Amino acid sequence: TERTLSIIKPDATNRNLTGKINAKFEDAGLRIIAQKRIQLTPAQAGKFYEVHAERPFYGELCEFMASAPVVVQVLEGEGAIAKNREVMGATNPADAAPGTIRAEFAESVGENSVHGSDAPETAKEEIAFFFSGLELV
Ligand code: ATP
Ligand code: MG
Repeated sequence: TERTLSIIKPDATNRNLTGKINAKFEDAGLRIIAQKRIQLTPAQAGKFYEVHAERPFYGELCEFMASAPVVVQVLEGEGAIAKNREVMGATNPADAAPGTIRAEFAESVGENSVHGSDAPETAKEEIAFFFSGLELV
């Protein structure tokens, strides 16, 4: 089985959607094996999204991710990385398939309710960014 890092973003925590989003993950066969609610500083958000530092939306993205608490979580399951991204839907909610989290809940391409790791190597790094080995069983 595989593990991936998921973040329920400020637009979704603000609208009290954590449970509805978690139900989508569980219905898809993903198991939430670690989870905590934290608030990032803009600097911490900037470090997490370092790969996007040159993109025009980087400043806006970091500010948004620090604007309210987020729920960071580790999802486990067969093909968890791809499965999670399927359940999330396309980055832009206008392009997201019906029934996906972003189709149902996202407000815009920036405020799009969830983050999910995109490959095994980034999943490993992103899980280690938020969770210690002791928190992962
Ligand atoms: P994520 O990495 O959050 O799971 P993703 O892989 O679908 O989403 P990326 O291209 O990695 O999308 O972009 C990271 C995040 O940056 C997006 O989820 C979104 O919040 C934000 N973002 C992406 N494109 C734009 C844009 N054109 N304008 C504003 N924000 C954007
Ligand atoms: Mg991405």
